[in-house]
Amino acid sequence: VWNNCLKVIKQHVSEQSYRTWFEPVIPYKLLGKKLIIQVPSQFFYEWLEDNYVQLLRKALDFSLGREGQLEYSIVVDSGDRVKNSPPMSVNAPNKPHKTPEKETEAEKKVNSPFVLRGLDNAQSESFLNRSYTFENFIEGDCNRLARAASFAVAEKPSVTSFNPLMIYGGVGLGKTHLVQAIGNYIKMNFEGKFVLYVSSEKFTSQFINAIRNNSLQDFMAFYMQVDVLILDDVQFLSGKEKTQETFFHIFNHLHQSGKQIVMTSDRPPRDLEGMEDRLLSRFKWGLTADLQSPDLETRIAIIHKKTQDEGIDIDFEVIEYLAHSIDSNVRELEGVMISLIAQASLTQRTIDLELAKRTLNHIVTESEKEVSIDGIVSVVTEHYSVRIADLKSKSRLRSIVIPRQVAMYLAKELTNLSLKSIGYHFGGRDHSTVIHAIQTVNDLMDTNKEMEKEVNSLMKQFKKK
Ligand code: ADP
Ligand code: MG
Repeated sequence: VWNNCLKVIKQHVSEQSYRTWFEPVIPYKLLGKKLIIQVPSQFFYEWLEDNYVQLLRKALDFSLGREGQLEYSIVVDSGDRVKNSPPMSVNAPNKPHKTPEKETEAEKKVNSPFVLRGLDNAQSESFLNRSYTFENFIEGDCNRLARAASFAVAEKPSVTSFNPLMIYGGVGLGKTHLVQAIGNYIKMNFEGKFVLYVSSEKFTSQFINAIRNNSLQDFMAFYMQVDVLILDDVQFLSGKEKTQETFFHIFNHLHQSGKQIVMTSDRPPRDLEGMEDRLLSRFKWGLTADLQSPDLETRIAIIHKKTQDEGIDIDFEVIEYLAHSIDSNVRELEGVMISLIAQASLTQRTIDLELAKRTLNHIVTESEKEVSIDGIVSVVTEHYSVRIADLKSKSRLRSIVIPRQVAMYLAKELTNLSLKSIGYHFGGRDHSTVIHAIQTVNDLMDTNKEMEKEVNSLMKQFKKK
């Protein structure tokens, strides 16, 4: 009976829709004139109801006659348990039936070429960048849990309880790298699994296009065939209600069908504003792991690896200097390394401390994001007429201690450097010395108007730049 239905259906829907919505249906039982079919999820059932009710009626007429009835069973947990759904609304009196004209219109929509063609090509591509792998992802305290969870998912997609897996962390900390590594690993080791990487931005624009072109069905159909869906930067969906709703349906369907979902966000789920609660609560089903700013050891390891990969000899002194000077994120660190390596090869010289300092200053002033520590040192030494060496020395002379403490204070106020790194730049002092310096300057400014004016005017010099 169902095979007869399929014959009719096949004539009326696109190949893609047929494969997505009708091939997975299993004829379950025939009770007199009532056919019970099994569908993979609640969402699947709703989708058939909403979009193919007329077609199913037609198919039923053809194979069972006018009295033919259809009922759905929704498969729960790989088909072991079966839950009956309410009978389909073909016979329900108050659901408005579409007119035949409308139906043809709807069928046309199904056959809209846009998403179908555009997305079909995507299937072979996955949109993965092969250079992002686990091998070249440096592990450290800052990323250990996120990396371990990602690797577990890559080894056993959909099998671990990390579904969805949500990786969050600030910009440039390796979210995209890590989730792409998952995708690449699965592609390599599980032939035939359809892995798809998509940024939330792209997902949104595909969705908007699908609405515009009346090809929402193809859009949904496409995403529902994915075995591993990687959605990058979900914070982008904030406030986009319709896109979220659609993602919610795709999410549910994939999750219920035992497919793996991986997401990233620039903040923890609880801080995602403009996100639907039901979507946020789904995110909590699996595992959430964060990426922290790279710690000193990890920064050193990353610089070390980069130079090694490039076959470059570099003194540890230089690595240490770099690791102490850039501690915001890995992307910035990489950027500096790239220009440093380029400089070195252009000028045919080895990377020494001097070249490192020059490159770094150049980059930092160029991006204007941050005041450089050398900039602070030069302003402070000029203002107080002391030497750079004095600031780094062990001298306890008040005429040197004050400028030194002010410089550390400014470094804390004006750069993102950690206390440890600030200490490093002032003669290798430890972080408690830096805290003490900052505290002292704060106290002086509170009690001494002259001092307050002086420090503020120094600060202004940087703000102007
Ligand atoms: P995000 O997506 O969090 O903004 P990316 O994944 O784009 O960050 O990472 C920025 C750059 O830093 C990429 O080139 C990436 O390869 C690199 N990177 C980040 N973390 C690591 C790491 N732990 N080991 C090696 N490279 C890393
Ligand atoms: Mg990213």
